[in-house]
Amino acid sequence: MNHTPEFADPQLVSLDQAIARLKDGKLVAIPTETVYGLGADAADPLAVAKVFAAKGRPSNHPLIVHCASLAHAERFMQPPSAAMQTLLKTVWPGPLTLVTAKTDAVSPVITGGRDTVALRCPAHPLTRELLQRSGLALVAPSANRFGRVSPTSAAHVLSEFPGKDIGVLDGGECTLGIESTIVRENGDTLEVLRVGALSIPELKTLWPGSVVYNASTKGGVPGALATHYAPERGVWLWHYPKSFAFNESDLVCGWHKPDMLCQFQLLPDDPVQCAAMLYPLLRSADLRAEGRLIIEMPPATEAWMAIADRLTRAAHRD
Ligand code: AMP
Ligand code: MG
Repeated sequence: MNHTPEFADPQLVSLDQAIARLKDGKLVAIPTETVYGLGADAADPLAVAKVFAAKGRPSNHPLIVHCASLAHAERFMQPPSAAMQTLLKTVWPGPLTLVTAKTDAVSPVITGGRDTVALRCPAHPLTRELLQRSGLALVAPSANRFGRVSPTSAAHVLSEFPGKDIGVLDGGECTLGIESTIVRENGDTLEVLRVGALSIPELKTLWPGSVVYNASTKGGVPGALATHYAPERGVWLWHYPKSFAFNESDLVCGWHKPDMLCQFQLLPDDPVQCAAMLYPLLRSADLRAEGRLIIEMPPATEAWMAIADRLTRAAHRD
């Protein structure tokens, strides 16, 4: 069965076209509240393989399965605890991904052969409608080539995959702009495996036991590489109040205007607002004719942890 036309390059599609392509085993980039995902039917291993190929993502970096609702997600996971069920009912649809024991309904192609699955219900209205109307569950890693900055608009996706047969569902700019927070339950403890759009202070208000993010849980997800989210021309980090040799052509973004001559952009005081502009800012590094993009490191508090994490990975150089 192959009814939908093949695209020479990524192309915008309607919701109906998106559903038809996905049912045909083709790729569609979908808007979510976090970043755009490169979607494929989770029940179709050949379609899932196309996601790994298009991204250039190693097959041992497992994919998150996106579902319409908790009831839908429960087909793919072993029964959650009462505490987990309460948490998921509160935050889904929303930017929290749960890693938990899987059922046989999840193909090993998705999990890289693991017995766990990562699940999430995205909140974007267009993607919710797509999931509800199609009845599909979708794998949807960020719609960028492996190691590059995640896309937060349809235009980013259109330019990311020249020559690839990808439909793009335009849902405007992502409101949160940073990937989901990934957690795992361990007894009474909620272990944070990746910091993200749902902050640790928020999780602490929602989870009855302790919430931990430390050296043993951090990087607890396969594929958590030191370098990631990186613009090609690089980004430099400024640890205020340390001295930094700014040049006139540099753009400095942060909360303290340097005394030296350079361009300066004030960043929002609120981590949620700051996250929403982070990836477009990182992308702008590649568009600069000259001068460096230099970003001030945010305060070392839990509320800013996801932004500090992405900045550190974007700037990492061996
Ligand atoms: P992303 O690259 O944003 O799609 O995020 C996927 C993240 O979820 C990766 O860091 C994966 O390692 C993690 N993940 C996905 N599936 C699993 C799984 N089955 N077990 C553990 N971690 C997973
Ligand atoms: Mg990604």
